[in-house]
Amino acid sequence: MADYRQMWADLNMDLEKHDVLCEVLPEAFGGVFLSQEKRPEGMDFYDFVVSEIHGVRPSELIEHQKQGGKVFGTFCVYVPDEVVFAAGGIAAGLCGGSQFWVPGGEKVLPINTCALIKASVGARLDKTCPFFQIPDMYVGETTCDGKKKAWEILAGEVPFHVIDIPQMKRDKDIAAFEGEIMEFIQIVEKVTGNKVTPEKLGQGIKLINEKRRALQRLYNARKATPVPISGKDALLVTQIAFYDDPARCAQMANRLAEELEQRISQQEGVFPADAVRIMVSGTPMAIPNWKIHHLVETAGAAVVVEEACTGTRYFENLVDESGQTLEEQVRALAERYMKTNCACFTPNPGRIDDIIRMAKEYKVDGIIDVNLQFCNLYSTESYLVKQALAEQNLPSIHIETDYSEQDYEQLRTRIEAFLEMLRK
Ligand code: SF4
Ligand code: SF4
Repeated sequence: MADYRQMWADLNMDLEKHDVLCEVLPEAFGGVFLSQEKRPEGMDFYDFVVSEIHGVRPSELIEHQKQGGKVFGTFCVYVPDEVVFAAGGIAAGLCGGSQFWVPGGEKVLPINTCALIKASVGARLDKTCPFFQIPDMYVGETTCDGKKKAWEILAGEVPFHVIDIPQMKRDKDIAAFEGEIMEFIQIVEKVTGNKVTPEKLGQGIKLINEKRRALQRLYNARKATPVPISGKDALLVTQIAFYDDPARCAQMANRLAEELEQRISQQEGVFPADAVRIMVSGTPMAIPNWKIHHLVETAGAAVVVEEACTGTRYFENLVDESGQTLEEQVRALAERYMKTNCACFTPNPGRIDDIIRMAKEYKVDGIIDVNLQFCNLYSTESYLVKQALAEQNLPSIHIETDYSEQDYEQLRTRIEAFLEMLRK
């Protein structure tokens, strides 16, 4: 890795603590990713990004700030990035996926908070992640109680805007979300000093749609048998998409998809054609959380799709690009975002429909419904998910886990037993 110590020092990071993270990450990445066989060449870019994970993109964000631009750190797929880019800002996803940050979060949060929230708060309070140090503003949402209250703590650190996400999807809720987007536009205009015109918002919508199209194309390739890319590699692409430059993200995902399409035409796969095909469904897997994918794939099965925010929820559904006025565009944004089916909504039958539809599209043999421990929303919803899948004769297991390694062997046993059952 190039030397970024001065940049980290300028960001007021705890360099000593951060060194510990820098030491463990390459080894973890090597063990999980570089040990795989027949990886697509297009993964080179993503390997490079990880090798410079706290250097290359943070330095781009800082350069943007030096040119007078603003950076917005976000925590959820309901934040309309289009608005930020329309105002000449950059939106970068911040969700923490490492156990390294969890103890820092536990200093101020109840222990029975999900690892994602604890890691996100810990990364900021411990000053061990440049992405958390850089933003001019954090943008949170009211999706779950843990997040809502964590924002109040983080608001003591960084200017914070909270978008109120409805909990139902009636017309009046979508109208309320339109109001939230309008307010967000005003906030972003104020922070950046730039006006969000219909022309600019139209460009922002196209930019983010292009990213979505590229990721859709990549995921389409995963429907093939044999599957041309591992689940771990596909997950890594989506995880990086959260903070990479959207145009470059689209370009790299398209390049990779093209290679995968060639592999498909030559019937080339990373797993044998008869490998068990798994859908992972549930709570997000923020980088560097590769735990379940690694367990499944080292047991010889392939993860072919993630029904998760670090998966299809991130890029399914495009925003209608035909709006000419700000009102029309904001309506289109609200409609698109309200199609995303997070367990924070009640009722949430759309998510179950998505899982069943995708199980068919991706020809999955079984579903692993994975929830972060202490995520009440997804854990409670898992009851209805299981019931609906059983009605469709789709085998599934429910797993609750966190970022630690403590339950690793126990999970391995459960996952191997599930895969064995699917092989019979
Ligand atoms: S699971 Fe829900 S709250 Fe979490 S990132 Fe996804 S949409 Fe947002
Ligand atoms: S995993 Fe669950 S508890 Fe954690 S942030 Fe997402 S919705 Fe909230």
